[in-house]
Amino acid sequence: MDLKTTEWSKLDFSYRYVPYRFHAHWKDGAWDEGILTTENKISIDEGATCLHYGQQIFEGMKAQRARDGRILLFRPRENAKRFRESARRLLMAEVPEELFMKGIVEAVKANIDYVPPYGTGASLYIRPFQIGIGENLGVRAAYEYLFVVFVTPVGPYFKAGFKPISLKVESFYDRAASHGIGQAKAGGNYSASLFPLKKAKDEGFNEVVYLDPKEHKYFEETGASNVFFVFKNGSLATPKSDSILYSITRRSLVDVARLDFGLNMEERPVGLDEIDNFAEVGACGTAAVVTPVGWLTYLGKKYSFYADGKEPGPITTKLYKQLIALQVADIPDKRGWLEEIK
Ligand SMILES: *Cc1c(COP(=O)(O)O)cnc(C)c1O
Repeated sequence: MDLKTTEWSKLDFSYRYVPYRFHAHWKDGAWDEGILTTENKISIDEGATCLHYGQQIFEGMKAQRARDGRILLFRPRENAKRFRESARRLLMAEVPEELFMKGIVEAVKANIDYVPPYGTGASLYIRPFQIGIGENLGVRAAYEYLFVVFVTPVGPYFKAGFKPISLKVESFYDRAASHGIGQAKAGGNYSASLFPLKKAKDEGFNEVVYLDPKEHKYFEETGASNVFFVFKNGSLATPKSDSILYSITRRSLVDVARLDFGLNMEERPVGLDEIDNFAEVGACGTAAVVTPVGWLTYLGKKYSFYADGKEPGPITTKLYKQLIALQVADIPDKRGWLEEIK
């Protein structure tokens, strides 16, 4: 991408080549120290476990600029921890926190000119991932692993920005099994979601919200973000389940709702039968930030929320504003959630 002509506020959420990425390699029980490379192609064995058996995990984070120009990460050690948890579930070598952080910091610093300016709505998206590589044929864990961190400047995940989206409540397909790998950030969960997502998009929806795989009675999450509900009585809830990915954004919102706004936000199973009590619905995640959901459609019946779904509701808006203010240090970081890249 050409930095001179880039209009930061018009970026979409897509891949753009930047000069450097970080690669580290695990073999014979140890990680090497890792290296920055300009090569964005990877050459691996044709039998690699990532290619055949889905031994692949990833993370998604953002580096953002504060008003004073500092470059900030939001709770990166939570991502490091979740990455290790995902690795454990897929029987992969774990990336220690120090190596994870080193990869992130080096990849961001090497591409510092590509961190979008404050106030443009754009950020430097960070994509750490790990794959099983090496010679292989049979079903087993790999004997070698590659850990990569690449970065790319992005704009909002949903094109319209902070505008209500429409979700299809998926009544048939599941994204994850009840004791499967839904709690791991693994590519396999996404491949399972591509077909239902395409179908929903063809039907005019922005995304899919899945139901619990056991009974199809409780809300789970969308393909790439958690969800939360604001009830007509003013309380909030976000689904608890064995098969969802516990979003760091969601955990942060629970804290913000409770401590900054004195709202009662529960983590509990939220049933389809509660739909008539919803005043507002939102999706949340690193990419989605906080995205208002104006409409849910279940078995062809459309339910609309605040302002007939046409505008973001007041509580969703409050949470959104507080979260982005915290992420770029517009308000003091009392919780120690921010880490500066120097
Ligand atoms: C990454 C992801 C999220 C969002 O998690 P954050 O930690 O908030 O970025 C939610 N659901 C799924 C399925 C995800 O892969």
